[in-house]
Amino acid sequence: MIVLTLNAGSSSLKFNVINMATEDSLADGIAERIGLKEGFVRWTIQGEKGRLEVDMKDHRQALSHIMEKLHETVLVGEDVMGVGHRVAHGGPNFGDPMVITPDVLREIEELAFYAPLHNPANAMGIRTAQEMFPGVPHVAVFDTAFHHSMPDYAYTYGLPYELNQKLGLRRYGFHGTSHRYVAERTAALLGKPLETLKIVTCHLGNGSSVTAVDCGKSVDTSMGLTPLEGLIMGTRCGNVDPGALLTIMEKENMDVKGLGNLLNKQSGLLGLSGISSDCREIEDALDSSDRARLTYEVLSYGVLKYVGAYAAAMNGLDAITFTAGIGENGPVLRSWVCSRLTNLFGVVIDEKVNNTRRKDNRLISTPESRVAVAVIPTNEELMIARYTAKFI
Ligand code: ADP
Repeated sequence: MIVLTLNAGSSSLKFNVINMATEDSLADGIAERIGLKEGFVRWTIQGEKGRLEVDMKDHRQALSHIMEKLHETVLVGEDVMGVGHRVAHGGPNFGDPMVITPDVLREIEELAFYAPLHNPANAMGIRTAQEMFPGVPHVAVFDTAFHHSMPDYAYTYGLPYELNQKLGLRRYGFHGTSHRYVAERTAALLGKPLETLKIVTCHLGNGSSVTAVDCGKSVDTSMGLTPLEGLIMGTRCGNVDPGALLTIMEKENMDVKGLGNLLNKQSGLLGLSGISSDCREIEDALDSSDRARLTYEVLSYGVLKYVGAYAAAMNGLDAITFTAGIGENGPVLRSWVCSRLTNLFGVVIDEKVNNTRRKDNRLISTPESRVAVAVIPTNEELMIARYTAKFI
């Protein structure tokens, strides 16, 4: 059974083709600069990388190019049996993956209020794929869904209650599919039921969030109404005193659009370091640039504080899991955080294992460590494909 997963951005379309019999990815890639000049599609198909320079006027053309390539290679004589769509915001109502009916699609579009950059693009990807694959189930998997289990006292902001109700202002959280996947893999790695474990999962990529997973359920997470809250990220600011925003608007004469741009695109690793939004470049500059050092430590300290807070929230801690680009590939950050958890939590990591680059699920803690520390490559696409396969 072949499942296609899609993640549509405003000018991009990421795809993955998964053979559900083996759960192997047969192909993945991305069409970029859709609707712009100098468009291209790049892919990895059965280990071989390739690239096609092609301008695409819309997502439909992009998907046509992708399917053409797939039918020439991995899908010879095979049909896509279902399509799983990553959808950023499910709002207060969508907790579980859903087959996308016209009503569901309308609601996804209406949720653009919460995720103006993501939901309209996700909806466009869904429409396109539904036209191209009319006879198969299309399933929406929401980034917010895993966090539906948060208690009200964890998701409520201290704003006027009526305003919270009127505008749906609350913490929703994101990266849910990733947090759930790595929590499950951590339990498997430890050989213990997920329902018995208290895990802090740290998804650290271009966007970053930390989640408290108590007995398999998200009970708190660092992102909020939007993916701006929490840790500093590639270009996003993370937690800032709201008063600082009022000051910026007043002193810099900045309107909502300008502020949105500042907080989403010019802040975080990029804004602080002045070097790059890419954590690798900041790591490379750690010895030569004090701003790089500061940026790296602001991020690491943020992770450390969430681990402590979430251990308190769960009244215990069995495991800390690192995932996504920085979490999987950043031994310096992992070491920075874990070495500060020794006295309180008895965390001890094996620096040799921590510094070894590997791509599998692994423990970097020593057998004596009171808390297990795991590095688990995330696989949101596989989770989306699994949910989709349930509806086929
Ligand atoms: P996204 O959130 O876009 O999926 P990723 O999970 O790919 O992002 O994470 C991107 C981040 O991971 C970047 O900051 C990048 O520098 C970092 N990263 C990727 N590979 C490495 C590496 N080998 N060493 C350190 N950081 C890495």
